[in-house]
Amino acid sequence: MYKAKAYSAASASSALASTSINRRDLTEHDVQIEILFCGICHSDLHQVRNEWSGFMPTVYPCVPGHEIVGRVTKVGSAVTRFKPGDLAAVGCLVDSDGICPECQAGLEQFCPNLTLTYNFPDKHLGGVTYGGYSDSVVVRDRFVLRVPANLNLAGTAPLLCAGITTYSPMRHWGVGKGQKVGVVGLGGLGHMGVKFAHALGAHVVVFTTSPGKKDDALRLGADEVVISRNADEMARHAGSFDFILDAVAANHDINAYISLLRRDGNLTLVGAPDKPLSVTAFGLIMGRRSLSGSPIGGLAETQEMLDFCGQHNITSDVEVIPIQKVNEAYERLLKSDVKYRFCIDMASLKGEFMWTTGLCGAAN
Ligand code: NAP
Ligand code: ZN
Repeated sequence: MYKAKAYSAASASSALASTSINRRDLTEHDVQIEILFCGICHSDLHQVRNEWSGFMPTVYPCVPGHEIVGRVTKVGSAVTRFKPGDLAAVGCLVDSDGICPECQAGLEQFCPNLTLTYNFPDKHLGGVTYGGYSDSVVVRDRFVLRVPANLNLAGTAPLLCAGITTYSPMRHWGVGKGQKVGVVGLGGLGHMGVKFAHALGAHVVVFTTSPGKKDDALRLGADEVVISRNADEMARHAGSFDFILDAVAANHDINAYISLLRRDGNLTLVGAPDKPLSVTAFGLIMGRRSLSGSPIGGLAETQEMLDFCGQHNITSDVEVIPIQKVNEAYERLLKSDVKYRFCIDMASLKGEFMWTTGLCGAAN
């Protein structure tokens, strides 16, 4: 076991602050990574503030972060895919049983025995797993992904959650040329959804509550932009979409979007508001429309998405911040004021003190 620097929240109402955490010594299948960048997902905020208490209660202290890019510093004796010095990435998953039908199908995100990167029982050290707002992490090799060499590293980190979460349902529902695709909410996930739908050849329409994001939406790859609070603009698109990806972090009326689907169209929810959404039955019945959800993606598909990004030169538009600005970034997320993902430059953690219970020591 060794100490790593990190930022954690002590309770649902505490700001994130500097701390030190335990990381395990490497087992034969482990990879140790020096974290260079970690994206800030709205899920980090939901979790830190215990907004998903009914489904996934937060255990404190909580160290969030599941959009990790870094450099390998050490590998266990059985690791063959990585060596010290390699670039490496870690997303929302750090373990699964490897034997269930879901794992066998390469869909580790559905494994009944998966381990998420943070706030999940830690099989090695007890307590819960700690995420990427830290200077280092130890992860089983199967869950470490390769980073295409041509991509900017800060812009790559958000691909590990915002990227795969939007890529996976688009592949599942066959988004491609000749289709009309909507993306609701131009935040971290939404802006990646726009880039992927555009790269896959679809006609892309962005729905936003922020008129100021219109030019950006077009630059990111949208063909049209709808201000969703304008009923006339919405009505013009009634019954016309093959697929809509809803990436809104707060409560909103999804019936307004279901009615925009054509026959057999699908709306996939990736946004995870804390309160139940209400759905009008006739919106689905008329037109045989479907409503689904989708969580992140499996390892093979995450690597496929990273390679797709390498080939198409796709990264996230990031605002790189030092970790000391993380609390401010959370407040801005709540105001939809992110262009379009905050990404922490982990070098900023170097100067922090290592706080331990009742003690602090100089950084080294
Ligand atoms: P984000 O960067 O904060 O973006 C959310 C966007 O939603 C905002 O930028 C805003 O876009 C829109 N929005 C916010 N409040 C709204 C409201 N009251 N009504 C309508 N639109 C509103 O968040 P994110 O990181 O992309 O995450 C989005 C959601 O996906 C979160 O709930 C997160 O937990 C969830 N998530 C799910 C998965 C999964 O596996 N399914 C993975 C990661 C994240 P406009 O300004 O354009 O309106
Ligand atoms: Zn996430």
